[in-house]
Amino acid sequence: MGTAAAARLARDGTNVVLLEADRIGSGASSTPGGFVVPHFSVGSPREIIARTGETGAGIVDLVGRSANMLFVRIRELGLECDARQDGWYHPATPAAVPRLERLMDEWCEAGFDCEHLNAQDTAQRTGVEGYAASWYAPSGGTLHPLRLCRELVRTAREAGARIFENSPVQRIEKMGTGYRVSTAQGSVLAEKVLVCTNGLSSGISEGLVPPLTRTLIPMRVWQCATEPIPAADRQHLFQGGECLSDTRRNLFTYRFDIENRLITGTFDAFGVDASRAARIMSARLGTMLRLPKPPGITHIWTGTSSISADRLPISMVVDEGVLAASSCNARGIALSFVVGEALASHARGDGVQDFPVLDTNRRTTASLQSRLSRFYAHFTPLLDWYEERRARNR
Ligand SMILES: Cc1cc2nc3c(=O)[nH]c(=O)nc-3n(C[C@H](O)[C@H](O)[C@H](O)COP(=O)(O)OP(=O)(O)OC[C@H]3O[C@@H](n4cnc5c(N)ncnc54)[C@H](O)[C@@H]3O)c2cc1C
Repeated sequence: MGTAAAARLARDGTNVVLLEADRIGSGASSTPGGFVVPHFSVGSPREIIARTGETGAGIVDLVGRSANMLFVRIRELGLECDARQDGWYHPATPAAVPRLERLMDEWCEAGFDCEHLNAQDTAQRTGVEGYAASWYAPSGGTLHPLRLCRELVRTAREAGARIFENSPVQRIEKMGTGYRVSTAQGSVLAEKVLVCTNGLSSGISEGLVPPLTRTLIPMRVWQCATEPIPAADRQHLFQGGECLSDTRRNLFTYRFDIENRLITGTFDAFGVDASRAARIMSARLGTMLRLPKPPGITHIWTGTSSISADRLPISMVVDEGVLAASSCNARGIALSFVVGEALASHARGDGVQDFPVLDTNRRTTASLQSRLSRFYAHFTPLLDWYEERRARNR
């Protein structure tokens, strides 16, 4: 979000300084699976509109357009980040079909392309059997998230932005009509400050915008990449930059990177070590993707996703010239990018009417949810089983 905002501001001729606590991309943005998805992780267009009133339609529009806006900008600026806009598939288990159909209706009603696939077309186009139907969103796709961040920084620098790594911001103070932003080594005087620290990053930014931090829940996400899959074994699977995430709570996802490695992930299960998690995932990939043998997992990493306590896709705090936002909920690649650009236009004088601004006095259950979130992964198979059972008894 910060690199997108800085690149946008610098290209528009604004004098901009980017302060990064660690190295560029050291937060959540170096860890995603790289699935670019034009949809909320929780909720639907009508639910978001019902909850956020007048701003809801703006949020739906922004999320719906986010993937396309990102890919357009990548092409426009020639950002080298393995970007492939070949669409996102959202296949449904039989029990989840009513939920999927409602979602698709709502996105179509909001004006977005939704292709509805039956079971047979879903299996044929995704290579995965057993789903009852799916939604195909052509604006989705895949990319290499850390390369995207670095490329945005390159364009920001080329346009005149000054970038300081290893410079954690310690304080933001009002100074006349502007602000002093201080690090241990020095300070910056600025008219406007955009805080794009994702609320939780390493805990170092806790003091900067406490209301935002208080509303976010850290959720550990586990990711892996396999050895490259031989062409003969993947003829029935995706051939380009398509990606898939299904309707299960125990989410199944897959995509190929440009070296034909499978990339997938899941919520990190508390108490399960990395090698056991890899064995389970390898077996799952082998079965779901009908591979001749479970693929070898060569890379494993984890990251912390910031989930908003109220599950709204964007949380924002505004204090005159200081604007802080988080837009993650584990689907933040496209949305963080467009919110970063929107923050940049706000800093140049446009309004933020399309965003729900947090009521910073409201009590949240984030602290309790944070404690429970460690165990969430263990409950997901149970939640899926319950949904299937209810559907059978309907
Ligand atoms: C494992 C994992 C997998 C994911 N997979 C996907 C996916 O496939 N698709 C998808 O859409 N989303 C995914 N997400 C979510 C996505 O990664 C995030 O939404 C997105 O990267 C958030 O970007 P950001 O810029 O807001 O935050 P970050 O990338 O966390 O950036 C915040 C930056 O602020 C810096 N910072 C913090 N405090 C300070 C300070 N005091 N001073 C200066 N700098 C500071 C941090 O060091 C960090 O670099 C995933 C998340 C995780 C954790």
